[in-house]
Amino acid sequence: MRIERVTLTEIRLPLNFRFETSFGVTRERRILLVRLVADGVEGVGECVAGESPGFSYETVDTAWLVLQDTLVPAVLGQEIATPAELLGRLGTVRGHNMAKAALETAFWDAQARAAGLPLWQLLGGVRRAVPVGVSIGIQPSPAATVAEVDRFLAEGYQRVKLKIKPGWDLEVVRAVRERHPRVALTVDGNSAYTLADLPTFRELDRFQLDYIEQPLAPDDLHDHATLQAHLVTPICLDESIRSPADTRKALATGAARVINVKIGRVGGLLPARQVHDVAQAFGVPVWCGGMLEAGVGRAFNIALATLPGFTLPGDTASASRYWKRDIVHEALEAAEGWMPVPGGPGSGVHVDWEYVARLTARTETLGP
Ligand code: MG
Repeated sequence: MRIERVTLTEIRLPLNFRFETSFGVTRERRILLVRLVADGVEGVGECVAGESPGFSYETVDTAWLVLQDTLVPAVLGQEIATPAELLGRLGTVRGHNMAKAALETAFWDAQARAAGLPLWQLLGGVRRAVPVGVSIGIQPSPAATVAEVDRFLAEGYQRVKLKIKPGWDLEVVRAVRERHPRVALTVDGNSAYTLADLPTFRELDRFQLDYIEQPLAPDDLHDHATLQAHLVTPICLDESIRSPADTRKALATGAARVINVKIGRVGGLLPARQVHDVAQAFGVPVWCGGMLEAGVGRAFNIALATLPGFTLPGDTASASRYWKRDIVHEALEAAEGWMPVPGGPGSGVHVDWEYVARLTARTETLGP
């Protein structure tokens, strides 16, 4: 397909709630949409980079810059047959995976729409609904957390993940576990801990957690392997996994026993599928993480989670949990802990461009 035109659009979408992690608080998402036209067919991608460099060094502003100055010019006007070829043309750019993924997913979407195929099918997916859990940010008190957990379990979510940080861990996990002794429960430290916190992890090890997500530094597989050797609870890596090669190294060294796959963090749907394949070769389960996506990114997450190795519930909760009004016409709503896979060609969702125009902070078209 010949890539004719790419439009970057930044929107501001207010969150329904205040989402606090060990990085800080998010109230409004700045989201960068990538609208690509190839052979007259449009595909849309969503960049998951955050407002500030906490989860990753990438931000909405760095993604905008690198897409505008480097990534889009590398593919504009080019005849490109596959996502692998597209990523190959971006291969000289180190990092900036979220920016790359926004462009790569837009290309997948255009390609699937041109072929008249749903994206999940093109990817090799095997299920029409994906199991979903909910991720609960840091709350004002353990009691407030328990109330949130009660609410989401009543909605049928299959797993509860609690964001933790030093000083906000054992007490809140104990409160939730006492109230719900058997619910699938996990915690996410977002790299806020070190090996010096081993006593805390030994305590967490007693709560029958499905896994402890990213407790230590993103670049420290060695310490994760050391920690894993002390724990019965599997470690799940998120921030540490930036590529299929990282996945192999993490699993080969015993740094993790579960992998969280994020399309943006690994640089696209193709590498995300490869991460899944590597994990499958190690017999390790994967699940699809969330980055407070709007409807476009959420649809890609759902498509990815249809692959056979996504056996654990992901973070792709109902769009209405996050947004009063989503940017796509389709309602991406889970029922009884299952998110239906949108039908129709491509990602299966259609952007409400009229609404997007009202949310737009800036837009720029590259190409004729
Ligand atoms: Mg995480």
